[in-house]
Amino acid sequence: VVVVGAGFGGLRAARSLARAALDVTVVDARNHHTFQPLLYQVATAGLDADDVCYATRGIFHRQANARAIRARVVGVDLDRRAVVLADGDQLAYDHLVLAAGGVTADFGVPGVVEHAFGLKSAADAIAIRTHLLEQFERYERGHDGDGGLLTFVVAGGGPTGVEMAGGFAELIHHVLRRDFPAIDVRRARVVLVEAQDRLLATFAPKLGRKAERRLERMGVEVLLGTQVAEVTARSVLLADGTSIGTRTLVWAAGIRAHPLGHALGCELDRGGRVVVDEALRLPGHPEVLVIGDLAAARNADGSLVPQVAPAAIQAGEHAAKVIVADLRSEPAPTFRYRDKGSMATIGRHAAVVELPGGTTMTGFLGWVGWLGLHLVLLIGFRNRANVLVNWAWNYLTFDRGSRLIVGEDLPVAPMLQGDGRDLQGPRS
Ligand SMILES: Cc1cc2nc3c(=O)[nH]c(=O)nc-3n(C[C@H](O)[C@H](O)[C@H](O)COP(=O)(O)OP(=O)(O)OC[C@H]3O[C@@H](n4cnc5c(N)ncnc54)[C@H](O)[C@@H]3O)c2cc1C
Repeated sequence: VVVVGAGFGGLRAARSLARAALDVTVVDARNHHTFQPLLYQVATAGLDADDVCYATRGIFHRQANARAIRARVVGVDLDRRAVVLADGDQLAYDHLVLAAGGVTADFGVPGVVEHAFGLKSAADAIAIRTHLLEQFERYERGHDGDGGLLTFVVAGGGPTGVEMAGGFAELIHHVLRRDFPAIDVRRARVVLVEAQDRLLATFAPKLGRKAERRLERMGVEVLLGTQVAEVTARSVLLADGTSIGTRTLVWAAGIRAHPLGHALGCELDRGGRVVVDEALRLPGHPEVLVIGDLAAARNADGSLVPQVAPAAIQAGEHAAKVIVADLRSEPAPTFRYRDKGSMATIGRHAAVVELPGGTTMTGFLGWVGWLGLHLVLLIGFRNRANVLVNWAWNYLTFDRGSRLIVGEDLPVAPMLQGDGRDLQGPRS
């Protein structure tokens, strides 16, 4: 079995095959698993990248039938049943699990790819943190000629955008205020721009309003019903003609499926997700399973399964069952996604939680639930212990330990990474 992607879905698929009489190879372009839900805390200096990532080879130390390799997959030869790697090597498979996740969607807004920061990897998060700290350094040295150094714009009012904006506000007002006593941090602006007329559109409306009020109390300017029209190195232009002078735009406005789907030459949905059958198999190729953010899996009512971690994890478990059923010549089970609810945190001791059936939780209780769930889901005891200690430290001291500037002000456009331009076309 070859599994492409050591994210939530791919890892779960590989681990669920631990007892099967199979050889499993997990191939990922990075040498580590990334716990994406906590990346915003790396970007806002609350956690280290090491706390939210885990070396993939280490994950399989105790799984005798599995190995992990680092390589970028650029195509799949469906006829010859081989995965094609960037260096030209091929990995033959009997069963293939494609779990390459998603990439940032710029929705064609000019300048986003060149000037905005995405948030999909530890490198992205470190680039944001480095850049933010650099802005303060430069402002203190009087380099804010045309303004905008201390204005931080976040596009997208979903959970990632809300968490990012709240994280920026806390970092600036609690920590950088003391790091840069010469700067009046009240001059700093954090602006959250959302195209819809409310935040957290997938949550109950009252939770969106709660998040909005809470962010505003933290000093975040929330602009609803507002679209970003263009981005330059020094400004964000809104659709109503307003221009915000800034050097920092974090693009949390959406994702699309990984372009690996295009390389397969199979049917894709509007978001570029690979259309799969009810067992998550590629039509015409029952030996290929597509899971997680990359798959257009459907619920019984025809709606799309959401691109969230629990859905990818459940799909990973399911993919393993389908492979085992195939080995036993049994029919493939149908995938059924079980909604476990959604949650987002809004700074210190506040979160919004919506459970299946509509039960909601907010405030401190929601926050404790959020902390507990994320701790449980993290991989590795060391990571859990580190995160717990960091959170306790941050909570008690209002400090944030991870404020290293590594490298120069990285002028990366992180969205250029993994955008699929090296992918090969269909081979079947
Ligand atoms: C900032 C952020 C915050 C989020 N917060 C939440 C949250 O709070 N709750 C929630 O439920 N969901 C959250 N999500 C969504 C969740 O992380 C995804 O739904 C989930 O990771 C999807 O799992 P996956 O296995 O499909 O893909 P991923 O976990 O994205 O894994 C894909 C893997 O494929 C690898 N890969 C990509 N291209 C290649 C290639 N060409 N060759 C080899 N390997 C490749 C990548 O390196 C990666 O390791 C968040 C996402 C982001 C970006």
